[in-house]
Amino acid sequence: MAEKKFCSVCGADAVTLLGNGRYLCGEHYSSAILERVQRTVGENGMIGENDHIAVALSGGKDSTVLLWLLSKILSGQDDITLTALTIDEGVCGYRDETIQAARSITGMLGISHRIVSFEEYYGRTLDSLVAGNENRACTICGVLRKKLMQVASRETGATKLATGHNLDDEAQSVLMNFFNGDIRRITRQATVNPGFIPRIKPLNEIADKEVALFGMVNGIYRDLPECPYARGSLRADVRGFLSRAEYLCPGTKDRIVNGYARLRSSLHGNVPVSHYRTCGICGEPCTGDLCMACRILDSLA
Ligand code: SF4
Ligand code: ZN
Repeated sequence: MAEKKFCSVCGADAVTLLGNGRYLCGEHYSSAILERVQRTVGENGMIGENDHIAVALSGGKDSTVLLWLLSKILSGQDDITLTALTIDEGVCGYRDETIQAARSITGMLGISHRIVSFEEYYGRTLDSLVAGNENRACTICGVLRKKLMQVASRETGATKLATGHNLDDEAQSVLMNFFNGDIRRITRQATVNPGFIPRIKPLNEIADKEVALFGMVNGIYRDLPECPYARGSLRADVRGFLSRAEYLCPGTKDRIVNGYARLRSSLHGNVPVSHYRTCGICGEPCTGDLCMACRILDSLA
């Protein structure tokens, strides 16, 4: 039987061992995560006075933990508003339970919650859009959801859009851009377009397993069904590849994300700058004649 370990701070039963050799109980682990997220938000100027933060809440672990942490970090800051936004893509057998979980956490925290659906905005569910094109489901879903999240955030009066991307998601995205040879994305300079609500990622320094443990320790995470389209995606393959790399060589994900940040800053001044226009169909900001969402919808029509 494994030897019982105790929290280095208070002596209670430990739930985890940190990289620095310290064991922590649930309470002190939660405080440590909260402090790290608070530091990420503060050091990167993610939230300012009078901000209205729309939190993209899928009902899954990352967005639920994000909402929970932001509600604690911002409690007492009366000039800041939090609104949770959930997109119902219309995936049979998957979305109902996660939407219920989203309702439950917003009810528990007393945060206003808006649900918008593909069916209501695009006139079709994701299931119907990808029928016969299931292998492209995540690409189609990602583009349409991103657009709807922007539109809904703007309608809500949000000044920032917070998403639950964690360190693993960031590392996966970097690798996927390389695997796709997507030089435009790899080198893209962050430019501010007045039509886009700026996105913030307060969990981007917290690993996936740390988010999961935080959710479990605080009783806000339970196993939910996985989207049926997730299995065949490139992201799922990259996730498996990265998990193995991290297991064999701890710190790999951190190094990918930090190395990429250094690469981008070393390219400073030598990267293509996006010139924004408005989509000829929907009027949303984009870099070509049509936005990606309208191009995709056109190709599926
Ligand atoms: Fe959309 Fe793919 Fe996520 Fe399913 S797994 S919700 S299809 S992005
Ligand atoms: Zn468009």
